[in-house]
Amino acid sequence: MSQIHHADIVIVGAGAAGQLAALAARGGLSEGPSGKPSGPVPSVAVLDGSARLGRKILISGGGRCNVTNVRVGLEDYITRSPHHVRAVLAAYSPRDMTEWLESRGVPVREESLGKVFPRSNRAQDVLRSWLDAVRGAGATVHSEQRVESVDREQFATPPSPGHEATPEDGKPVGWSLRTRSQVFRAKALVIATGGKSIPSTGSTGFGFQLAESLGHSLVRVRPALVPLHLSSDQVAGLAGMTHPVILSVVPKGTAVEQISGTRFRPLARSAGSMLFTHQGISGPAALDISSELTGDSDNAFELRADFWSLTEEDSPWERFRREAKPPGACLRSAETPSPLAWESFRATLAGEIREVAVVLRSRLPRRLAEVFLSPLDIPPTTSCRQLSMKQSRRLYEELVHRSLSVTGNAGYAKAEVTAGGVDLSELRRQTLESRHHPGLFFCGEVLDATGRLGGFNFQWAYASGVVAGRGAAQFVAASREA
Ligand SMILES: Cc1cc2nc3c(=O)[nH]c(=O)nc-3n(C[C@H](O)[C@H](O)[C@H](O)COP(=O)(O)OP(=O)(O)OC[C@H]3O[C@@H](n4cnc5c(N)ncnc54)[C@H](O)[C@@H]3O)c2cc1C
Repeated sequence: MSQIHHADIVIVGAGAAGQLAALAARGGLSEGPSGKPSGPVPSVAVLDGSARLGRKILISGGGRCNVTNVRVGLEDYITRSPHHVRAVLAAYSPRDMTEWLESRGVPVREESLGKVFPRSNRAQDVLRSWLDAVRGAGATVHSEQRVESVDREQFATPPSPGHEATPEDGKPVGWSLRTRSQVFRAKALVIATGGKSIPSTGSTGFGFQLAESLGHSLVRVRPALVPLHLSSDQVAGLAGMTHPVILSVVPKGTAVEQISGTRFRPLARSAGSMLFTHQGISGPAALDISSELTGDSDNAFELRADFWSLTEEDSPWERFRREAKPPGACLRSAETPSPLAWESFRATLAGEIREVAVVLRSRLPRRLAEVFLSPLDIPPTTSCRQLSMKQSRRLYEELVHRSLSVTGNAGYAKAEVTAGGVDLSELRRQTLESRHHPGLFFCGEVLDATGRLGGFNFQWAYASGVVAGRGAAQFVAASREA
């Protein structure tokens, strides 16, 4: 016989979103009177399929957990529902999280490009502080409880001689969840099951299937922040090399004249460090742009790489050149420069008396410089100002607008996040409650909001968790009053 548990709110998934939802529902965040649930605090049960909770948190940021970013805005996310994302982000700020962590004895530190880490550099400290707080706030946490099915509970009044039919008869009033050995019943249900990335952490896409089965639409689900594969001739001999680049997604076949024009706007752009792998490219610039490249109409787009502009002395990347390790995030969109114009490139070469090979090797790793030098087929002593117009132009097109042929990506096994997900437009903006099913809430990566690299995905998990947790508590309070 299955054991039956009752709670006002059941939260499925004990990742960052589920834990923040539990804290918000129980009033366990020190966020002022408006953050506390009104009336009696609802009972909350958090279920997770894994034996070890928070596995994704533990592997995040290379085991250091990039908890948030000091500046978070709509421009840091890909979504079809920008108004929802903006409203949700406003509910819980990066500062709310950093102050909360510090108040719980986890001091934090800001690193390059606004990334925030625990001073201890241990993700374990972050996870422990959240789990202690969830339990301390009175929520019960059940590990090894993978939810297999979810049903609407029917109105329970048994037919009896004295029972007069009411409009509520037969209407669903709650939720019943089954795991392998137990049954959980709740008035409100919060789905915080994450996406499909790194399935070994417990994220298997359950929330997507459930949402669809309940009539919700999904924005196409796809791997994001994922290494890209290139054709083998474009990576031969380059694996392991890192270089700062500007990557642009442009409509296929766009002429260089058009791209290099001042009025050209690419479909997406990232500027940061890029790493060549055996199969293609990774590193922040490639990972960020990958989220824009794994969509439906990839065949309509191509990727252009600029290996030159971030090596200019006045580039916004200059401040990182002397750092021991390149920053693990890209420049903010407002800071991201356009690739250097042809006229400026030509002027640089015309004023340069050094040999082409020397100049290229002063700015690019040696092996990468060879990639650009060998097709020029010039004597090694040729100086930059001796290049013909045709040679200069060819060098410009290759160095500043090199076309990369993306053949695929490394898939969910390597993707840091899952893009797409439950369509936010079918949820209420202030509570993340389903418009189809009262009492059903969603939060975290299961939703259609994908952050770039740098702490933005955790911030989304917190803010959406807080909104859904509060929404569920309000729902329970309102159903008590009814
Ligand atoms: C390697 C890696 C490094 C990362 N580093 C960072 C970083 O430094 N900073 C950052 O901002 N983001 C980072 N991210 C992204 C970030 O970890 C996620 O976006 C975030 O954890 C999502 O939180 P979530 O709570 O929505 O989902 P998850 O953390 O995936 O949690 C979902 C939980 O639901 C449980 N679950 C799923 N299905 C069921 C079911 N049927 N029944 C019961 N339980 C279920 C799972 O076991 C899991 O514990 C990283 C991701 C990866 C993979």
